[in-house]
Amino acid sequence: MTTEAMKIKVAEMLKTTTEKLNARVFGLKLGDVCDRCGGCGEYSFNPTHGTKCFKCDGSGQTISNSLAGWKRIYNRAIQVKPYEIEAYLQDLRNRKNASGAFKTLHTAWKSANERIGMPKHFTLNSPQHSAFNAAIAPFSEKLSTLQYKKDSHNEVLAVLKEGLETIAKKEIELFGS
Ligand SMILES: [Zn+2]
Repeated sequence: MTTEAMKIKVAEMLKTTTEKLNARVFGLKLGDVCDRCGGCGEYSFNPTHGTKCFKCDGSGQTISNSLAGWKRIYNRAIQVKPYEIEAYLQDLRNRKNASGAFKTLHTAWKSANERIGMPKHFTLNSPQHSAFNAAIAPFSEKLSTLQYKKDSHNEVLAVLKEGLETIAKKEIELFGS
């Protein structure tokens, strides 16, 4: 069997494509344990990489792109239960959903800034501007946290809705209609 054929087999098992296979392998922790950092993702400090292990880029895992390497991954992949893959995919969807909501909120905040003539970055140059940003900040913080929470779909929608309403309300309250 060729390396490519082995990769296709593993990709099918993990319900993905060969293009996205490496990310899926890392996500499910099926790669080889990095022999430089022992899997912790960190190594002694150096000025270019900080403490992040540069061999595995901090993931703690490596993939050796050879038939033997993909055979090892295959042997781990056959142990993965379908419900574990499903749980992983659910996590990915949660994260995408929450980060999409985060972007929507941020875009609305930016447009409001443009309408009220606020600097486009977070420079606080008036009490109104500070108050406006302070009112929005909890919603964006909440949405970044929700990326890592399971089954957060409804909560994400609720936070986004409240955040967007707050932007509209505060824009009128602080800067007039
Ligand atoms: Zn490493």
